[in-house]
Parts: sequence; C-alpha cells; structure tokens
Amino acid sequence: MNLVSLIEKAGIVGAGGAGFPTHVKFAGDAKYIIVNAAECEPLLRVDQQLLIAYKNEILTALQASREALGAKKAIIAIKGKHREAVACLESAVSRVDGVEVFLLEDFYPAGDEQVTVYEALKKIVPEGGLPIHVQTVVVNVETMLNIGNAMKDIPVTEKYLTVTGAVKNPVTVKVPVGIGATEAIGLAGGPAVDAFAVIEGGPMMGKLIDHERAVVTKTTKAYIVLPEEHRLIASRGKSMERMLLEARIACCHCSLCTEVCPRNLLGHRLRPDRLMRMASYTPGFETDPCMDEALICSECGLCEQACVMGLQPWKLNNYLKGKLGAAGIRRTDNRAPEKVSEFREYKKFPVKRLVNQLGLSKYDVPAPLKLSGTERFTRLRIALKQHVGVAAWPVVSVGDRIEKNQLIGDIPEGKLGAKVHSGIGGKVTGIDHDTIEIARS
Ligand code: SF4
Ligand code: SF4
Repeated sequence: MNLVSLIEKAGIVGAGGAGFPTHVKFAGDAKYIIVNAAECEPLLRVDQQLLIAYKNEILTALQASREALGAKKAIIAIKGKHREAVACLESAVSRVDGVEVFLLEDFYPAGDEQVTVYEALKKIVPEGGLPIHVQTVVVNVETMLNIGNAMKDIPVTEKYLTVTGAVKNPVTVKVPVGIGATEAIGLAGGPAVDAFAVIEGGPMMGKLIDHERAVVTKTTKAYIVLPEEHRLIASRGKSMERMLLEARIACCHCSLCTEVCPRNLLGHRLRPDRLMRMASYTPGFETDPCMDEALICSECGLCEQACVMGLQPWKLNNYLKGKLGAAGIRRTDNRAPEKVSEFREYKKFPVKRLVNQLGLSKYDVPAPLKLSGTERFTRLRIALKQHVGVAAWPVVSVGDRIEKNQLIGDIPEGKLGAKVHSGIGGKVTGIDHDTIEIARS
C-alpha cells in the first residue's frame, strides 16, 4: 500500500487546525514539505514536546512524506525560543539528507500556514489559496507523528493536548479520542477556581465549549480553563450583534486592525477596518459581494488585539463567511500578490506582548508531557465528524463487540472525509447522528 492509502486508512486529519483530511493534501506532487512546529497560540505546549519525545519517528515519517510527494526539500519550522527542541532536531537533522530546520521568530501568528510558508520559503500563497498553490504541503507536528504510525498500520485513536489555565497542575497528555473534556481537565488536577469556563484550542482562535458535553476529537489541541469573569471569556462570549452595535458607536476608523492584519501584511486585499465600516452603515451588508474580502480572513483574532476600542473584526468576518457562503457568493478574483507589505517586518506582533494583553501572564507556565497509558478510560463518545468534509457513516451497530483500533466510521463514497476508529476494545453501546459510544469490555 502506498503512503497516501496508508494515511487514508488510518483516518489522519490535520491535528493542529480545522482537520483537513491529510490523504487529500498528499494526493499530488509538491516541491516542498514544511512541518509546522510554530505552535504560536499562547499556552499551548504540545508540538514542542512531541518533537523531543518522538524526533526519530517524526523524521522517518517526514522523509517518507518527502519521497511520496516528490519534494526536493523538507523543512521543520520551529520557533528559536524552543531551545531544547531545536538542539535536539538540529543534531538529528544533520544525519538526514534534504531536511532543514528553519527558526521562526516569536511572533503571532507565525503558525498561520500562509505566514509559515512565507517565512520559510519567501513565497506568497495567493488570496484564498492553499500552500499547494506555491508547490508546498504544510503538515502539523502531530499529524506527521500520525503518518509515522500509519506506516506501522496504527490508526488515529489518540490525541495529545495541553490542559492549562486555572487548573491545579497544567499538563500535556495523550488521551483516547472520545473522552469527555471534563475527564481531560481532571488529568490536570481539575479546575483551581469554583466558577470557570473552558476554551477548546488556543486563546486566540479557540472556542468556548460546554465542557460537560464536549469530547476530545482528532483536532483538540488544548483545554484552557479560565475564571468565568476573565476578560477572554467575556470577549469570546460576546454576540456578533452586540459587537456590531458597539462598532457603530465606537469604531473611530483608525485602521489599526488592518495595519496588524497578517494577511494584509502578506499583500492580500483584506481590510478589516473597511469591512467594519461597511457593516456599520450599509443595509443588507451580509450578502453584499463587496464584503467578499472577509472570505480570505484566517480568523487569527489579531485585529481585536490592535483595536483600542476592543472591537472584533474577526467575529464579523466569521459571520460574513456564513452569510456570503449561504448566499452562494464566492470570491472570484483570488490574486497572487507580488510582494508583501514593506512594513511587515516591523509589524510582527510579539507573543510576549500578546500574552500580557490577553491577561494570561500568570498562566504562561510549563505543561509537561505525560505519556502514561490510556487504559484507565472506560467509555468513549467518538464523533463521526472530526474533520473538514462530510461525517463518517457508522460501519458498526449497537451491541457489536469491537477491537481496539477497529474501523467504526467510513468515508461515504466519493466524498471528502476521514475514517474513524475506536481507541478501546469493547461493546458499541449507542449510535446517534453524530457520535458512536463504546464501553470497554
Ligand atoms: S482575524 Fe483579523 S487580523 Fe486575522 S486575518 Fe482576519 S482580519 Fe486579519
Ligand atoms: S482598530 Fe477598531 S476602531 Fe480602529 S478601525 Fe479597526 S475596528 Fe475600528
């Protein structure tokens, strides 16, 4: 079986973002492959530690991936501040042909794949495009580790995530996909405050979740527990309508949001200040094709950090994507900029400043990797849609006895999706439209 088939069989999706099925990314050729180890979201501690714990497995998978894509160069892009991981990699890479370590500065969002591609290769991904449009495939560290497992016929049933913030013992753990968020938070000793809220993912791009219902998926990167009254929780929870109402009153059209926008700095025509102005004063703006710039926003959230009024252009862009998409409005002119902004180098947003501004300095602490077994978990609720594309369809029935690593959800014929497997052996106790429940024997 070739590598692409092994990746598809193992159900691999991007472990660090939206969960794009990796076999689709690997379907063509590329000149470059980048392992994105930037991990630029504050407080996250997964990739930097995986690179130390599994450097040989990751390098073996990277070499196989480079060959499968026909790529002439493989690059591991990591922040220079992760000194231990960098030292470890540089010594390992010196023994391997065609692989380089590229050191990123400590700015946000160095891990936005379009930004990483520009930093490492000085190539600009076109507006609304993908790295493959500049002959590059970008893969997250954990995804590469999963490719190494797929080469040994091991599917994706486990996830590495950081549990941090207002918890007793911040930690990075390996858990089966399908355990509850509350169980995962328990591995960090539980919340350290009585009234708390939970963000899944990083503080900039993560989402507020109902931690009593949420389960770990193949894309869960972190749980950040924060006191209910923390300003980040208030900002995440604010409705779009409320934000827009505030924008009508408070937006002073200073354009600071546009000045820091990483996509604008790459030369893309994305002007969040213009979108905010039009949304404030144009009736029917939701389906106005003039708003299509919103479609090329990465929702990195930096515009909010630049805004002196605390407004959230990213939230408007997220809303517009839904409305424009539903109205069938697509961006047709996805031009490729010839050069980036001449001020880009001076406008990189330091992570240290970001942490401080977000009110997270006291939580910016280590979260050591613990690789203890996953046997303690007895019940999983495994989501059938953990990825971009359509949900997997169940290939087991209630009452079936299944083995660990067995396929339980498959890709519908001819659709974009990913296979789903069970991380424990046991009995199927429930199936509904979006999850399969398994109890350990
Ligand atoms: S979220 Fe804001 S800063 Fe980030 S790409 Fe979108 S408009 Fe630009
Ligand atoms: S930074 Fe804030 S106040 Fe200034 S233009 Fe952007 S949204 Fe308006």
